[in-house]
Amino acid sequence: MKFVFGPVPSRRLGQSLGIDPVPLKTCNWNCVYCQLGRTIPLTNERREYIPREEIIAEVNQALASHTPGEIDWVTFVGSGETTLHASIGWLIRQVKSLTHLPVAVITNGSLLYLPEIRRELSPADAVLPSLDAGNARLYRKLNRPHPEVSFKRLVGGLAAFRKEYQGKLWVEVMLVRGLNDSGPALIEIAAALKEIQPDEVHILQPDRPPVETWVQPPDEEGLIRAMSILGNIARVVHPAEGSFDLSGSESVVDAIVSIITRHPMREDELQRTLDKWTSGQTDAALKQLASSGRAQVVERYGVRFWSATPAHFPNKVQSQRTKID
Ligand code: SF4
Repeated sequence: MKFVFGPVPSRRLGQSLGIDPVPLKTCNWNCVYCQLGRTIPLTNERREYIPREEIIAEVNQALASHTPGEIDWVTFVGSGETTLHASIGWLIRQVKSLTHLPVAVITNGSLLYLPEIRRELSPADAVLPSLDAGNARLYRKLNRPHPEVSFKRLVGGLAAFRKEYQGKLWVEVMLVRGLNDSGPALIEIAAALKEIQPDEVHILQPDRPPVETWVQPPDEEGLIRAMSILGNIARVVHPAEGSFDLSGSESVVDAIVSIITRHPMREDELQRTLDKWTSGQTDAALKQLASSGRAQVVERYGVRFWSATPAHFPNKVQSQRTKID
């Protein structure tokens, strides 16, 4: 399957069947922490990037091949921005008509200022937008957005959506050390959250390789500070441990590619996940993938991650050159 994957383990959504409605890095942001490489070029164009019937045919097939207890949520989660698919509303409604499972949409939230996007997302059971900054300057530095999706539009759109939306609104805040984990930065995020009134705030930290070499996860103090400033609806969400569905993978190479295309992983984590093969088989498969160019090692904070994302991860010099101060 090309557009549907999993179920994969998720701390908040249990075993989550993923639907990826846009091609890799079709995005109107270029976040410094993105695990999928740089967004080149940025796009803010809404289009039917993938024929909607093809996506629904795969959803149907995936639902039919799993017993009800094997999937907890069906989640739209892109290799880019999910709401850039022009038929996102139609896709959500179709999935709702196919299953009683709850449907979640992970989005950066930048297009929620548009009334039609708010209407299209309204049938979802949970919407998880991002808010990593409490002012326009930090937003530009962290999320590096397309010029049409301003900070004012982001916060205004989230607040407008909250007023209309009946489902769960869980705002995600990705903490980056030295950027948005200071007291003043968190106080500004808290002020924006007060305007938005989400049901929950999920504090995340980069646990996959960030695109920029200088991005660091927050330290313990930063996490505690975020918890205390963002209020009692905020909680830290740690990465989930659990099993990946590898039933569609015929070989260890297929299994590795199916995981690390969307979820770059540490080598030891990959070995654990692929325990139905020996570590020798996994090592040999990784070597083969690296020599054929289908996978690359991305080194961040002294950790080697494997990624099969055909996107650009800059080296230290390139990364520093584009840093916005
Ligand atoms: S993290 Fe998400 S919103 Fe940010 S650049 Fe990557 S795909 Fe786009």
